[in-house]
Amino acid sequence: MRTISSAAEMTAVGREIHRGGKRLGFVPTMGALHQGHLSLVRTARSQCDVVVVSIFVNPTQFGPKEDFSKYPRSFEQDSAQLQAEKVDYVFAPSVEEIYPEGATSWVTVEEISDRLDGRSRPGHFRGVTTVVSKLFNIMQPDLAFFGQKDAAQASIVRRMVHDLNFDVKIVVCPIVREQDGLAMSSRNVYLSPEQRQQAIVLYRSLMRVQTLADQGESDAAKLIAAGRQVIAEEPAAKLDYFEIVNNHTLEPVADISRGALVAVAAIIGTTRLIDNIVVMGPGQARVGG
Ligand code: AMP
Repeated sequence: MRTISSAAEMTAVGREIHRGGKRLGFVPTMGALHQGHLSLVRTARSQCDVVVVSIFVNPTQFGPKEDFSKYPRSFEQDSAQLQAEKVDYVFAPSVEEIYPEGATSWVTVEEISDRLDGRSRPGHFRGVTTVVSKLFNIMQPDLAFFGQKDAAQASIVRRMVHDLNFDVKIVVCPIVREQDGLAMSSRNVYLSPEQRQQAIVLYRSLMRVQTLADQGESDAAKLIAAGRQVIAEEPAAKLDYFEIVNNHTLEPVADISRGALVAVAAIIGTTRLIDNIVVMGPGQARVGG
């Protein structure tokens, strides 16, 4: 495994990989790796000849009052894990390498970037789509792997790739959870043992919706009310949003008969957590059988 910090060198390596007729798989991350990230890496490994993982805590996707400076960083440990997964290249550039002084260009996917997390975190998705575009341009991957954990991000990146003719296939991998259902996240390390217990409420609220949907309830307003009620019963949780939306446009849907994304964000202590499920309407097959 080779670690690269220069964008020019990463581009040269990407070009070499393509010249050899090999399929380049790319997994963008912000490091502090856990099994969720590693599931993307394993999927990439199984579908591609060469796997590149980026580790870059992207400042432009954090708001001024957010956790950029205290975001967990564990490069040595991350490297060891990626080596064990037989990753070929780690791309770990500095902030200055990705954002040279004087850069004023942004990639913005309008409208959809202002929904869900984009509404609570203004400018967040502009930072995401800008950095993802830059990383795509730098290494020109054939396939890029994202997690369903960040459902809005996956939909926005898909839209961007379609709108801007990026020649890359986006693969979205399922959410990896702890045994009790909590979605794995680099931010879970912020939680005290007590908050860690309280954090399960997000998953519980989604399971409540799943159960009602399984029983035939398709009215989104009723399902949202039930999900919100579960969150309200945990006093430590401050709800940011609980929404049922179209998985592609992130626009609210009135009923889930044709399938929908159920997404929740809540703050436990000072940690903002997100989670989601995709519910299927009656007669639609559930993903994964
Ligand atoms: P991050 O390092 O948080 O930017 O995440 C990098 C990638 O890993 C994103 O595509 C995330 O959606 C994905 N990811 C993070 N947590 C999980 C999880 N629990 N299950 C699946 N994918 C995840």
